[in-house]
Amino acid sequence: MSAPDAPNGPFDTVVIGGGPAGLQAALTLGRMHRRTLLLDSGEYRNAPAEHMHNFVTHDGTPPAEFRAAARAELATYATVTVREVAASAVVPDGEGFRVELGVDTAATAPVAARTVVLATGMRDTLPAIPGLEPLFGTVAAVCPYCHGHELSGRHVAVLGSGPHVTRVAFLLERIASRRTVLADGGELDPGIRAQLADAGVAIRTEPVKELSPSAAGATVSFADGPDEEVGGLFVAAEFGQRAPFAERLGLDLLPSGAVEVDAMGRTSVPGVFAAGDMAHTSAMPMPLASVLTAAASGLIAAAALDGDLLALDHPS
Ligand SMILES: Cc1cc2nc3c(=O)[nH]c(=O)nc-3n(C[C@H](O)[C@H](O)[C@H](O)COP(=O)(O)OP(=O)(O)OC[C@H]3O[C@@H](n4cnc5c(N)ncnc54)[C@H](O)[C@@H]3O)c2cc1C
Repeated sequence: MSAPDAPNGPFDTVVIGGGPAGLQAALTLGRMHRRTLLLDSGEYRNAPAEHMHNFVTHDGTPPAEFRAAARAELATYATVTVREVAASAVVPDGEGFRVELGVDTAATAPVAARTVVLATGMRDTLPAIPGLEPLFGTVAAVCPYCHGHELSGRHVAVLGSGPHVTRVAFLLERIASRRTVLADGGELDPGIRAQLADAGVAIRTEPVKELSPSAAGATVSFADGPDEEVGGLFVAAEFGQRAPFAERLGLDLLPSGAVEVDAMGRTSVPGVFAAGDMAHTSAMPMPLASVLTAAASGLIAAAALDGDLLALDHPS
């Protein structure tokens, strides 16, 4: 039986999430002819970014182009169904799970699955600075590995006063022509100040009033003092689970707020796997949060799931 013949299942698995982790998990499962349903609510973490970087063969590809190519590949696998609908609940049901979809209508009746892959990603909350949000993903970013090189030879700011500012400023030392930490009225630890000064990083302590787009990148206006023109800036976003399923299923969580998985993507609840930014092993302090690692973890979780079902169906 292929998935399209039985729109509500039972599926071997429901993959919740259509980012790189979920797309790759579905590809791996499709290649093994597993009845797979992928649900995608269309809220991608890198949606604000025009291009994605640091992914070999895809360096500079627009994220939407990457997703479209992945969807086209999935369409060639008969046992994979993709639906653009949000899952609203994942409920243990007998030996498997019932996944409820959006509002319960005939078109969104719950589906049944033996297993579930959660690949629902993380949601970023930016510092509350007027003008920051429209710049996020282009001029403002969180990760120098993803968006540092594009600022080569430019004046780059690092926003914040926590310990992350030295790390980010130091990561940029071979890339930026000039670096300035914008403490935004926060207290900089004297040790951090000394380290920044030793490395030639300027510090502005005044509260940031506003950011606005400029020809160079952005103009930073302060409560006091002259504006600062920057080519780009790095911010520390707070992140949390985009979807409530981890908490509702009672999955073990890590201090980062991500789901704890074993090296193969298994969570603390049998039959529930997790991949991508939302999960990592306890050996890591936080998710690696990149497209390539998210896709890789989707592949690993899918292969583990496939193997676990095999063991159930063919006990030794
Ligand atoms: C601004 C920005 C720029 C970035 N640039 C880069 C870069 O250049 N290179 C790089 O490698 N990484 C980059 N990243 C990181 C990268 O975006 C993430 O690591 C990656 O997207 C994680 O993939 P994921 O599949 O775990 O989650 P996501 O890509 O966030 O996908 C989550 C999926 O889950 C779905 N979902 C959530 N809840 C539900 C639900 N209830 N029902 C159905 N579906 C649901 C969403 O709709 C989405 O399809 C960037 C991040 C940000 C914030």
